[in-house]
Amino acid sequence: MSIAENIAKVRLSIGQAATQHGRNPASVHLLAVSKTFGAEAVIDAANAGQVAFGENYLQEAIDKQQVVQTLRPDLALEWHFIGPIQSNKTRPIAEHFAWAHAVDREKIARRLSEQRPPNLPPLNICLQVNVSGEDSKSGVAPGEVLALAEVVATLPGLRLRGLMAIPEPAEDVESQRKPFALLHALQQQLREAGIPTDTLSMGMSADMNAAIAEGATIVRIGTAIFGKRDYAK
Ligand SMILES: *Cc1c(COP(=O)(O)O)cnc(C)c1O
Repeated sequence: MSIAENIAKVRLSIGQAATQHGRNPASVHLLAVSKTFGAEAVIDAANAGQVAFGENYLQEAIDKQQVVQTLRPDLALEWHFIGPIQSNKTRPIAEHFAWAHAVDREKIARRLSEQRPPNLPPLNICLQVNVSGEDSKSGVAPGEVLALAEVVATLPGLRLRGLMAIPEPAEDVESQRKPFALLHALQQQLREAGIPTDTLSMGMSADMNAAIAEGATIVRIGTAIFGKRDYAK
């Protein structure tokens, strides 16, 4: 199957899942995760109407952006950094992306805000939440989301859009839904505290339907669009 066919299939599944759960299909946005795939794959997806692309590895992403820009200067793509953010990498992220999905510390948020070029609109931010409760995983603890959100909402170079999570893999849909429901409840808590957000970045190829059932507004899909990745990334 071609990338265009895969995208059509994923879009159809998104629409079906949304409708099944009483949601407007247009409220669920598709982020194509192109990590480990080259500029040609991105261009194929863009030719199929895809605009938003997610990347995890900074240097790979910047190189790819430059190749795409050179081959197809007509494309206006929207790049999302979805990988963990080290503090020595904040400047290029602030300069080369429209969104960062995995902000989980105040220090990173402050640096991104300070380093966002003034000629660009504020960097859209999701706070990554550790919904699976494992010490090793990145993400802010659920009990600390509100305090971090309060800080991020005040930073001039950033626009707080919502929450993001990568739950532990689970086989059945019921187990998959629980951490997504928690993320949704945390978003509700922010709203009640006077910090409204419009984004829940949750759901990947294997758990997209469960995420949509619990209110995902961005699903991050790699494998179902581009195929299996060559190496474990
Ligand atoms: C790789 C990745 C994805 C895409 O995962 P697939 O299972 O290939 O759809 C989504 N989100 C993040 C943060 C990722 O690292």
